[in-house]
Amino acid sequence: MAASLLGRDKRSTAASLKAECSRQDGRGVQLLGELLDSVLSPERAVAEAEVIEWCKSLMAGGESFDDFCKMVRGYDNATLCGLVWTANFVAYRCRTCGISPCMSLCAECFNAGEHTGHDFNMFRSQAGGACDCGDSNVMRESGFCKRHRFATSSNIPSVPNELMMMPEHILPRVILHLIQHLRDGYNEPDSDPATERDLQKTLQQMEPLISLLEDLTKMGGAMRSILTRVLTNHQIYKDLCSGDLCTGEKAYTKKNYEKYLTALKGSGLVSSEERSVTSVLDQMAGASNVTILGATAGTGQMDSSDEEEQDGSQGVGKRKRVKLSNSTKDSSIMDILKHKCFLEELLFWTVKYEFPQKMVTFLLNMLPDQSYKIAFTKTFVQHYAFIMKTLIKSHESDTMSNRIVHISVQLFSNEELARQVTEECQLLEIMVTVLLYMMESCLIKSELQDEENNFHVVVNCGEPLLKNNTYWPLVSDFINILSHQSVAKRFLEDQGLLQMWMNFVSFFQGMNLNKRELNEHVEFESQTYYAAFAAELEACAQPMWGLLTHCKIRETQEYTRTVVRYCLDALQDWFDAINFVDEPAPNQVTFHLPLHRYYAMFLSKAIRCQQLDLDSLLPDQEMLMKMMVHPLQIQASLSEIHSNMWVRNGLQIKGQAMTYVQSHFCNSMIDPDIFLLQICASRLDPDYFVSSVFERFKVVDLLTMASQHQNAALDTEHERSMLEGALTFLVILLSLRIHLGMSDDEILRAEMVAQLCMSDRTHSTLLDLIPENPNPKSGIIPGSYYFETMLSAVADFKAPVFEPGGSMQQGMYTPKADVWNQEFDPIMVILRTVYRRDVQSAMDRYMGFLKQTGKFSGTPWPPYRERAPLNPSYKGLMRILHCKTLHIVLFTLLYKISMDHQNMSEHVLCMVLNLIELGLDNLPEETAEEEEMFGEERCSDSWFHGTNIATNLHHIINYVRVRLPETAPEVTREAPASTSSDTSSFMQNSNTAQVFSLVAERRRKFQEIINRNSGSAIQTAAVRPKTSKWTAPNSTPQFTTTILEIRESMLSLLIKLHHKLSGKQNSYYPFWLEDSESTSRLDPMQQIHGDGITAIERILLKTAARSRQNKCSIEEICRKVAPPVPPKKSNSADKKALDKEERRQKARERQQKLLAEFASRQKSFMETAMDFESPDSDVAMDVGSTEQPDSETVYDCVICGQSGPSTEERPTGLVVLLQASSVLGHRRRSTEPKKLPTSDEEQIYPEDTCGTAHDVRITDLQQYFKDSSCLQSVSIGWEGGVYVQTCGHTLHIDCHKSYMESLRNDQMLQSFSVDKGEFTCPLCRQFANSVLPCHPEKSEEKSIWSPYNSKSLLTLIKEVEEQQEQLGMFPPITNLSKEMESVMKDIRSATQKKYIDYGKTPGSPDNDFLFMYSVARLNLELELVHRGGNLCLGGASATTKRSCLNQLLHVLAMHMRLFRIDSAYNPWTRLTQLTQVTDYGICDDEKPEVPLLYRDVSSLLLILVLTMPQELHKEHFTCIVKVLYNLLYTQAVATLSFRFSEEERAAWKNSGKLKQTMCNSDKSWEVLLSHIICELSKGRLYSASNTGQVSMLGTNIWSPQSIEYSIQQFCLPFLRITSLLQHHLFGDDLPSCQRTEEFGMLASYLGLLLPCLQSNDEFCISACLDWPIAALDLISQWCLEVTTSAESHSEQVTNLLVQDPQWSLPCLLQLPENYNTIFQYYHRKACVHCSKVPKDPALCLVCGTFVCLKGQCCKQQSYCECVLHSQNCGAGTGIFLLINASVIIIIRGQRFCLWGSVYLDTHGEEDRDLRRGKPLYLCSERYKVLEQQWVTHTFDHINKRWGPHYNGL
Ligand SMILES: [Zn+2]
Ligand SMILES: [Zn+2]
Ligand SMILES: [Zn+2]
Ligand SMILES: [Zn+2]
Ligand SMILES: [Zn+2]
Ligand SMILES: [Zn+2]
Ligand SMILES: [Zn+2]
Ligand SMILES: [Zn+2]
Repeated sequence: MAASLLGRDKRSTAASLKAECSRQDGRGVQLLGELLDSVLSPERAVAEAEVIEWCKSLMAGGESFDDFCKMVRGYDNATLCGLVWTANFVAYRCRTCGISPCMSLCAECFNAGEHTGHDFNMFRSQAGGACDCGDSNVMRESGFCKRHRFATSSNIPSVPNELMMMPEHILPRVILHLIQHLRDGYNEPDSDPATERDLQKTLQQMEPLISLLEDLTKMGGAMRSILTRVLTNHQIYKDLCSGDLCTGEKAYTKKNYEKYLTALKGSGLVSSEERSVTSVLDQMAGASNVTILGATAGTGQMDSSDEEEQDGSQGVGKRKRVKLSNSTKDSSIMDILKHKCFLEELLFWTVKYEFPQKMVTFLLNMLPDQSYKIAFTKTFVQHYAFIMKTLIKSHESDTMSNRIVHISVQLFSNEELARQVTEECQLLEIMVTVLLYMMESCLIKSELQDEENNFHVVVNCGEPLLKNNTYWPLVSDFINILSHQSVAKRFLEDQGLLQMWMNFVSFFQGMNLNKRELNEHVEFESQTYYAAFAAELEACAQPMWGLLTHCKIRETQEYTRTVVRYCLDALQDWFDAINFVDEPAPNQVTFHLPLHRYYAMFLSKAIRCQQLDLDSLLPDQEMLMKMMVHPLQIQASLSEIHSNMWVRNGLQIKGQAMTYVQSHFCNSMIDPDIFLLQICASRLDPDYFVSSVFERFKVVDLLTMASQHQNAALDTEHERSMLEGALTFLVILLSLRIHLGMSDDEILRAEMVAQLCMSDRTHSTLLDLIPENPNPKSGIIPGSYYFETMLSAVADFKAPVFEPGGSMQQGMYTPKADVWNQEFDPIMVILRTVYRRDVQSAMDRYMGFLKQTGKFSGTPWPPYRERAPLNPSYKGLMRILHCKTLHIVLFTLLYKISMDHQNMSEHVLCMVLNLIELGLDNLPEETAEEEEMFGEERCSDSWFHGTNIATNLHHIINYVRVRLPETAPEVTREAPASTSSDTSSFMQNSNTAQVFSLVAERRRKFQEIINRNSGSAIQTAAVRPKTSKWTAPNSTPQFTTTILEIRESMLSLLIKLHHKLSGKQNSYYPFWLEDSESTSRLDPMQQIHGDGITAIERILLKTAARSRQNKCSIEEICRKVAPPVPPKKSNSADKKALDKEERRQKARERQQKLLAEFASRQKSFMETAMDFESPDSDVAMDVGSTEQPDSETVYDCVICGQSGPSTEERPTGLVVLLQASSVLGHRRRSTEPKKLPTSDEEQIYPEDTCGTAHDVRITDLQQYFKDSSCLQSVSIGWEGGVYVQTCGHTLHIDCHKSYMESLRNDQMLQSFSVDKGEFTCPLCRQFANSVLPCHPEKSEEKSIWSPYNSKSLLTLIKEVEEQQEQLGMFPPITNLSKEMESVMKDIRSATQKKYIDYGKTPGSPDNDFLFMYSVARLNLELELVHRGGNLCLGGASATTKRSCLNQLLHVLAMHMRLFRIDSAYNPWTRLTQLTQVTDYGICDDEKPEVPLLYRDVSSLLLILVLTMPQELHKEHFTCIVKVLYNLLYTQAVATLSFRFSEEERAAWKNSGKLKQTMCNSDKSWEVLLSHIICELSKGRLYSASNTGQVSMLGTNIWSPQSIEYSIQQFCLPFLRITSLLQHHLFGDDLPSCQRTEEFGMLASYLGLLLPCLQSNDEFCISACLDWPIAALDLISQWCLEVTTSAESHSEQVTNLLVQDPQWSLPCLLQLPENYNTIFQYYHRKACVHCSKVPKDPALCLVCGTFVCLKGQCCKQQSYCECVLHSQNCGAGTGIFLLINASVIIIIRGQRFCLWGSVYLDTHGEEDRDLRRGKPLYLCSERYKVLEQQWVTHTFDHINKRWGPHYNGL
């Protein structure tokens, strides 16, 4: 029955079945079932395409499927867009409208919505996504597009049951069919590529079926709800899938079902069918071993896999695992995957098949259905662990990750849904467990601290999981759900979760440990560090920031407390596990301390926002001490790395140091570390802290008063730098307020200022450099209003400028003057610099500012800044500034600097002063009291008694005992006791003078605390010996202890240093001695800018202001007549250094002089070579023409350096670049540039370009006239002509040849091809490819032309004719002529053959002839274009500078003379005499010659001039011009006559006739016009033309003025070319004039017009006429030529006769203002050739052609489309806009370069590859520059970075 149905017509079958079904007797349904059994037979009896057809027809129930679709769509009640896209789709994101940061819109919804002025951007989707329009959970309703804003389900009628009846019956079977396919096709991949291919095949087979489902989802809400019902119904699934029902083919079904079970098993989620759930659970309960992927699920499998893992790592991580067993508290998370509906099994297979794109799209397309969305989300969560497990094993984890996130983002971005699955499905537990499970797979034993007894495990950053970032989908989901308040709350409230999470974080604590190499350089630089930083940032820090955003208010205090508690627990565990006692292991550092940082950041939040008491959150002192160790170790290591102490570890360690501080990491790394150290410093004993710092930086031994010392820990070469590091660290620690009281505003401002001070920044760089995420902008997204306001407050915008010949600049932000003045903070700069040079750069810029504003002219010191007030919780920090240890260090350093000890530096002094000043600005409150107490202390001799810096400053240290080598100078000195007058006091002092041992101090303190904690004091004694052992480690017997007499206080040292810095004795004189009131009046902070002297003065002033005693002290010191201290010791070493420096300086000066000389020689050409813009720059370099006529031109050879004339034997040549050009061919008639089309309606037609017009003309001519004659009537080269340009440098041609030889042998990689003759000018490096020989000047005198005593026109005509008879004489063969020959070859090969051969017989000499004079024509025309299209500027134009036209004309002329124009065809005769016009039509078969009136007069001129013997006399030139002008004038009038209407023509004909008898009638335009009309009428030419032309132009009313004007315009182009030619041939300067006078000026320049007539005669065009014979007769003859042949081509007469020589200047297409206009139209436009949407679309900016860049689709014979087009459109030059990148590339021959972009954003920046996606606007200046480079053919010279394209673009 069913089988018979199969053969029937589908549509009618469907119709009848539908009718049966609706009868409700069940028969129809049964029939349908039977039919489906056979159609959907799992044995694949029916072809898949047929199956699809059947399904469609049946569902449509008799309608056509398309109609059915339309009907269903009518009931679409969806209010969401939900459009699903895949990778690379262009979508939009609007931050103003978005609620979730993941919100995205399709282009259609975006454009239809209202987002003007919003903060939006376009982006290319990476992982795919879906449109959120209409979803108010994700975005604000105001941003919905019109379609989705008003869509409500209320106005949609409900769906008639009858319509959906068939689908309802059919769809379950279709889905079952799909499931069966999936089951059948699956085999475990087994890392066997064959099975993978099988999977692909299965997927391919299923594609039509999934496509069908996808189509169904697009039918809208009605169909989606049916699908949802089918997919989620448990009963349907049970009926169809459980393996014992329905389909009848039981055997198959069973087998099929078994495959499914195997797959379930094979995935490791279910062990076997037999094992019952309960038994598994029992086993679990008793199991000591713990499986991560929980509990019941896969005990059997997990066990074995665990064993495997443990085999490899020998029980590593056992401890952790034990902990995990406690944390996996809820085993129900890990239920066996048990599928209860289609959707679940479908997702299972989707995962198994690793997320096939089609399936993903289908599943996502269903999301607009709300109940589906919930069901699907639950299913997704149910499979979450399985998904991630599959991901880890996947071979293509990248693709899979993208697909996973594509789905999960849609589900988890919705808060309500996320909350629901968190509560119902334990999403959080699952995620954290899976994260733990993932990381467990790659744990190794930590080697930190105690390698032997370390029980800590860390992730191995070399594992693929970390290296490839495979964990990111999971982490990104986790961060995503934590962004929802309700979910985060659940997390923070659940202690079990928190504990698990801390375990997870501890896996990263101490990872990627670095050990300093002390001997050998590492062989292999480990590249694991990036994985480590990425892991900490993404897996630890990002979730932390997510959680922190929910701990912002007092009400959330409890959360913070809990986190802090678990954090401390984890830290304690960690210290235990790494077996940490009190000292960090030497030469080790890890940059990864996420636990420390969690603790620090939650503390910061607690104090800042939640008003928690800091002390209640702090651990005991011992723990604080431990916590400070590792962050401090990092700070010291940073300094070591910068001091090159880690060089043997390779470059990567520097990379780590930089990454640690750089903007993307600093908020999560260095800032929390510094903050934690600040907390420790504020609570720990300050002496302990300070001595720890110096010990960690290994500079303790350096801090001795002795001039020599031995450092056990550090090489001398590193001491200075490490000391600087230690001091700088202290200054940062005490100055930084990021977490200690600054507001968000202040932080953002400080960050911005620091970045801007380092360097001017573009908007996007700055955005990128400002640390994101936490404090400054918490809640504020970059690019927002907030950022902009701040930016405009601190910076000025510098608009982008274009430097001619230089690089293109972008819009930059630079600090305001006030910022330099008041806010520039070197400490912040140092903190944020990745490269040390950035600090220098900031200081240089600061110096520039001070100089410019006259604030300070020397080299300034970093300015001292007052700090924001400290949050009271951290007040303890300032105790650091008031502790004896620090003061001893400061005193020692001041002393050492004043004594010129080794390894001191200005930087050290600067930091010391900074610390003193910080101390003065942060005096403890009990100052006065203390001062009283220690008032009498001035005579005391030990180190300091008090801790207040204000007191200690004036405390005098008399004696100090030091250990020092016996060789030290202090030792030889006699004991102070013998010289000292007060022996008794010395004796007393020596007892109290101390050995300066910080370390001993530190040890003691630490031990004290430990003891205090452990309650036993006995241990103290035990430690002591250890300490003393340490202080004198390798102490050698040469060391001795000496007592130094010091007798200084810090104040006296400061004043000494003032003298020292200023280089003057007693330079410091406190001004308040005169006026005691002034101390209080003067604000020391006004003296901020200056050097060390300024700083000392400021400190002394502050000191005096803070304490009366200090003031007296200073006065006393200054009043004391200082004993004559010997002037600054300049020991021999210093002297040597000085001498050396002096010598160096002298050598530099000498060198400078030499360079200057050399430079001045080069300068003249460098300027001309590089500067195309400046018209006012020096002399013209027109070679040969500016020379005195009687002296021979002398050329310098740039290779051998000799000078001399160019001779026949040893010719000199110009360095030239020959390039094919189609620039002129792209000119158009209209002066309005063509617009780039941006819609299908707009089009560009090439017909109206100059190139096409000339092509048409020559083809027309060739159709009717003799070929050789045709080839003399036009010019070619408008497209693909050869343009010759020179840099102006000359060289001997033989020198050039040897130069080329040397280039060829040069092994260096050239960016050009030497074999093609390419080279760069040896002098100016400009690109060139040939040498143009210079014509030797004949010594014969040039006749000085005078128009007044010239011969008569007739005589001259005769002479010209005679000279032409001499043609065809071969010149003698010389070196010169050979070179001329070879350059002609170069010229010919510079362009493609198709641009040379226009004749009908290829290779005929006529072709060559045409090509050669066309080269001359093209170069003249181009020069004219470069001069702006007219000659009004005269000789002053800069473009003449490096013209080589004169030389070029000589070379061309030499060649042209080899051709003989048959005198019978010589146009000269017909131009000057009356000849018998043969009746062409009858004579021979041969076609007639081209009538003179059809010919191009400029071409004729070049033919005549170039075929005349050189040197051409000027009178002959003038004669030729005059004769040709007559013809031109006649052509002009003839053309004009065609523009008249019939009536006008008749009127002008008659009025002219009347004037024929006047005198001078042959110069009357009326007479000539009338005559021409008369003559041409004979051929009935006008009647042919009257149709089109008149209607168009007939509206003009022709007046004498407009006729005059029109003729003038017609003649001008000829006059211009001719004048240029004359200028180059004879060298006389072109005069300049106004635009309106150009005609007259040129006419008289050419000798057509007597100078006296030039200025006052308005009507001068006819006055230029000079007829050799009767004008009317000659004209009649010319007209006759036309009329006799006209009949053969009556169609074309008008086209040929009516010429229009005027073209507007070449220009590129006009671009739209907004880049989006281009992008929207072109990024999805299909190519006309391959009709596909190209991956890399590009656009020719010359002609608008759209091409597939790099596309294989449009490749022709190994040429990709872009290259091909550059050849056809620009003869090898192409300018393309890359649509997807907004960048322009230039193709020039074999090479290409990236030019840059002409579109900039509002901040004047490019956006290459549209990464930021901000709106871009046309920068017309840049576009002009591009156009200019195109027109002047200077791409090769200006752009520097060329590379070969291998035809692959
Ligand atoms: Zn949309
Ligand atoms: Zn929309
Ligand atoms: Zn918006
Ligand atoms: Zn030479
Ligand atoms: Zn040069
Ligand atoms: Zn083009
Ligand atoms: Zn194409
Ligand atoms: Zn293509």
